[in-house]
Amino acid sequence: SALPAEKRIREVMQQAYNQFKSSSGGANASYIPYLANVDPELYGIAICTADGKVLELGDTKYEFGIESISKVFVLALAMQQRGAKAVEDSIGVNATGMPFNSVMAVELDPQRAVNPLVNAGAMATNSFIRAPNSAAKWTMIDDMMAKFAGRRLSVIQQLYASETATNLHNRAIAWLLYSYGRFYDDVSESVDLYTRACSYGSSTRDLAIMAGTLANSGVNPVSREKVIDAVLCPRILATMLTEGLYDNTGSWVYHTGLPAKSGVGGGMIVVAPGRMAIAVFAPPLDKSGNSVKAQKTLQYIIDELKLNLLAPQ
Ligand code: GLN
Repeated sequence: SALPAEKRIREVMQQAYNQFKSSSGGANASYIPYLANVDPELYGIAICTADGKVLELGDTKYEFGIESISKVFVLALAMQQRGAKAVEDSIGVNATGMPFNSVMAVELDPQRAVNPLVNAGAMATNSFIRAPNSAAKWTMIDDMMAKFAGRRLSVIQQLYASETATNLHNRAIAWLLYSYGRFYDDVSESVDLYTRACSYGSSTRDLAIMAGTLANSGVNPVSREKVIDAVLCPRILATMLTEGLYDNTGSWVYHTGLPAKSGVGGGMIVVAPGRMAIAVFAPPLDKSGNSVKAQKTLQYIIDELKLNLLAPQ
């Protein structure tokens, strides 16, 4: 159905903001020291429509750790380079129903297939990108992120250092996949690239535009640049629909009927294909690692604007 009027979108954003601004619940991620120290009161909402309008409310310029939301865009790069079929066969696309850093998720399937949006699958996806060396691969990732955002993003060096010092569990997962023949490049280098991509600083506005590119069939709605092939977008969104909020994805889709992705930095994106993308930032997380306030805010906006894809269009 048609895009709601801009005035209506602004009104609903403001209502959500007023309603949830001082709602409490959840706690900052504590396992990455940098994230534990981010101001938990920060709150931003940004909407990017498929026709390129960006509407913002609150702390939408503040740059925070993109974390697992980066998995979506690294997946886009892998798919663009290797094809959607190769990603399905070599990584996996089914839901794990398990926490984002689960080792069991790897052990579950005899084929060791893991969704690209959990840590295991995301690191495998990173390893699946072909490049002459690690520096060249980073340039490819950096260029892809820049096209999605319409500006060059930079890594928060303090966050990158903080994650590198504490990512032993992720290294173990990567080696486990490697032992099963489900890892496709140097393990240490791939884990490092994954960790670095999680450490990008992005604002709520950036995330809305990046997700807006997925809502607009792979064309950045603001810069008008073609970023990825249109045929890949439904496939990327499918992984968000099955795994975007990890072991809470079922509840999320039950209530909203839309593909989403969270990050432990407190960011979250939602894509309403052909219509708009919404990004929210609020650091305190639930036990699955998803922003509490972002989920509430997004559910409210999705209901009010009638964006649920599973309802008659
Ligand atoms: N860098 C984080 C990790 O690997 C990302 C996790 C997340 O955002 N869910 O643990």
